[in-house]
Order: sequence, then structure tokens, then C-alpha cells
Amino acid sequence: MNPRFTNALSQMPEALADAVAPMLTPRFAGHLTAGQIEELSEKSGLNGSELFLALLPIAAALAYVPISNFYVGCLAHGESGDIYMGANMELSGEALFHSVHAEQSAISHAWLAGERKLVGMTVNAPPCGHCRQFMTEMNNNENLLIRLPNIPEKTLNHFLPFAFGPADLGIEEGLLDGKDYGMTLESDDALVQRALKEANLSYAPYSNTPAAIALETKEGDVFVGRYAGNAAYNPSLPPMQMALNAMMREGIGFDQIVRAVLVEGSNGHVSFVNSTSNALATISSVELEAYQC
Ligand SMILES: [Zn+2]
Repeated sequence: MNPRFTNALSQMPEALADAVAPMLTPRFAGHLTAGQIEELSEKSGLNGSELFLALLPIAAALAYVPISNFYVGCLAHGESGDIYMGANMELSGEALFHSVHAEQSAISHAWLAGERKLVGMTVNAPPCGHCRQFMTEMNNNENLLIRLPNIPEKTLNHFLPFAFGPADLGIEEGLLDGKDYGMTLESDDALVQRALKEANLSYAPYSNTPAAIALETKEGDVFVGRYAGNAAYNPSLPPMQMALNAMMREGIGFDQIVRAVLVEGSNGHVSFVNSTSNALATISSVELEAYQC
């Protein structure tokens, strides 16, 4: 069992802790399949919301919070039945706008895994305004069920009435819909092609600049982040922060990065080169490789 989760297990019902411990492998990054959820339910005797709320300490243990020391854990529930955990992240000693919230983390986790629709979110603290706005970007936001400890389950509409969302700007697509921008780039560099693939799957209806980053580690692993735009602009999740958050979920230190490749569209209203370089410089001496297509 991964020692990252020792404290989390001590906060859970014993039967559930015993059942989930073997699933917490050294590379566990917060993904539980529908089959694993069923097994946990059978072995723990917990069902639905009871089970999801009881699993939150595992998600919160994925956080990296050197500034706030406030651990937020979240489960995003895919239509497939799989669960994608997320947790908050801050960059040590750096401006707070680099922060990723637990809900953003869980949603991006599901999106990167190919999930097309979320049916619910379970969080250990009420979602902040920023996250309520971020969740509004999803295609089924009106029916998205929010589960919190000690608060009745309600849909996102209840938590964000009179919302301003994509439809107010004439956008019909939603985050997770799976649009492919179809950009191409001549390069036989596998990391560049991976960043291109992810940029094509990014969500940029407002900036019209699809973008993604691919980070390679000393071990040869690759972590990616896609741009997730937002109708209210500021709650958008930049590609670099999404990729760093994916590393964090897996417990990989940022000092392991050996290459960073950004690919972005060249016909949009914005560029991510400067902001990505800045974020990278806060955690690594690696130079950003940037491509436009
Ligand atoms: Zn938040």
C-alpha cells in the first residue's frame, strides 16, 4: 500500500479502509473503475453517497498545499461509473493564480481519461464560486449532482442560480464534449506529437487558441494538460497547471521534469507561451519548447 494514504485510511470506516488499501498501488493517482467501486460497496456495506463521502480522505491525500495547508478532495463521477479523484494544488511561494482547485482537478482528470459526461461531484467542502463557475462549463451542468458532507444533495443549479455560462456567449459545445480541432504539425518528435494530440482535444471556444502541454519526466513518463476555457475567462484552467496537477495526483515531484512541450493554435486571440514559461520557471530550470500550428 502506498504510504501517501496511511493517514487517509485511518479516517475511514475500517471495512472500507481494508477493501480500498490493496487498490492504492504505488502509482495510484485517484482513478477507481466502476468494478472497483462495486467491490468496495460489497466489502464495506456502504452504497452511493455514503460510499463516495467515505472515500474523500483518499482524494484529499492527493493534494499539494504548501501555502494553505488546506486539503480539499473531490470525486468526479463519470457516466461510465468510474470515479476520478482530484485535489487542490498550490505552487510553493508563488502567486495564488497558479492554484488548481480540487473540482478542477477531478474534472480535468476525467476529461484526460476520455470521460465524456459527468453525472455528479462529491467534495469535502462546499465548492467556491470559482469552481461553481468552472462546473457550469460542462454540457450537463443543469443536472450535475453535488454531494457534500452534512448538506442535502442538490444539482449545480441550486449552488449557482442565474448562472452565466457558454450559452450566454452563443457556445453550444461543452467541456468534455470531445471536439477535435484537427490541427497538424510536421515533427517526428513523439512528445511534440503528443502535445499536438492533446491540443486538438482542448477546449477553447472563447480564445479560439487550442493548446496543450506535454511534460516528460526522467523516468520517461509523460504528463499532459489541455487548455480548459471558461465563459467567465478567469476560471479557465491553463494547460501547464493541469499537467502539473496530474503529476501531483500521481505523487511525482516537479523536479522530475526533463522536457516541456507546448503546442498551440496560431489563429486564436491569445497565446499561452509567456504564461506557460512563467509557470514552468517557478518549478523547474527546464526551458519551454513552444510550437504553433
Ligand atoms: Zn474552488
